[in-house]
Amino acid sequence: MADKIKLAQGAGGEMMDILIKQKILKYFGKDIQKGEVSLSMLDDSAVIDDIVFSTDSHTVQPIVFPGGDLGSLAVAGTVNDISVMGATTFALSAGFIIEEGLSIKNFERIVKSMGETANNANVPIVTGDTKVVEKGAIQEFMINTTGIGKKSKYLEGNIKEIKRYRKFKSNWLLDSNIELGDIIILSGNIAEHGIALMSFREGYGFETKIKSDIAPVNSLMEKTLAIGGVVSAKDPTRGGLANTLNEFSDKSKVGIVIEEEKIPIPNGVRSACDMLGIDPLEIGNEGKVVLGVVKEKADEILKEIKKHSLGKNAEIIGHATNKIKGVVLETTIGGRRNLHKPIGDPVPRIC
Ligand code: MG
Repeated sequence: MADKIKLAQGAGGEMMDILIKQKILKYFGKDIQKGEVSLSMLDDSAVIDDIVFSTDSHTVQPIVFPGGDLGSLAVAGTVNDISVMGATTFALSAGFIIEEGLSIKNFERIVKSMGETANNANVPIVTGDTKVVEKGAIQEFMINTTGIGKKSKYLEGNIKEIKRYRKFKSNWLLDSNIELGDIIILSGNIAEHGIALMSFREGYGFETKIKSDIAPVNSLMEKTLAIGGVVSAKDPTRGGLANTLNEFSDKSKVGIVIEEEKIPIPNGVRSACDMLGIDPLEIGNEGKVVLGVVKEKADEILKEIKKHSLGKNAEIIGHATNKIKGVVLETTIGGRRNLHKPIGDPVPRIC
């Protein structure tokens, strides 16, 4: 490892994984095993004494962009990490770090948006902290949100439904729960958040009306749990769909086959990615979920997701298998490629 921290080490891919494992976890001692879902499991949230607990620092640049802003992102980011455990967020904190010189107008716009997003998601912001640092110490404004949640009222029923079809040992929707035969569902278009930010920020000038997909997914998650049969869930943020599928595959120790044509990619995203030579599967999303579900319930769950405003373009994209290792993309004409965890991030500072 080089002697200075690089951007890619915070990008959600392979390099960040190595940084966390080699330079962070070892200093936190045996406590990394504490709790029902411990830090060592590196899931979306921890679970300790029935409290679901997650934190996220938001460093997006610029702080206002098509489809959202730092405020909506800061709320959705943490609510989503708690929701995908099978939990309901009951409170958030807000930690502000502001660069001296930020206009009051922009500050207020972000905070207002944060309040509105939290209100719409039905999650109160109950504690916070405000710091101002000298110009140049950070760029504009950063927000940390921490959330606490408790078991969703639908989680027990969801697990009962899984157990009608197969054994299930977990109490939560862990990345490690997927088994042979389970179906993978993606709730909608990918890469809109990263591409919206990148095209706006860098001013590439390509015709794009793409907006960020930022949204709290808590009500969508509750709807799917109410149907039952969801074994794993994850929000495909940094590292995109590629990272999420590899996390499922690594932690569950199963192969995952994905039908490439089934992945919903809007035309504007596809052409932007082609032009820039980047893979939409590696780009971050902020209002999507990837679910592993028992196959007997897959169609019913998909139908329910499609009824939700965030799930109109949802698709069954693949399944878990023991015929391959890792994640493999297949095309209808017989093409195959291995999909790896991204090394770094093609679009930095998006969350
Ligand atoms: Mg997550």
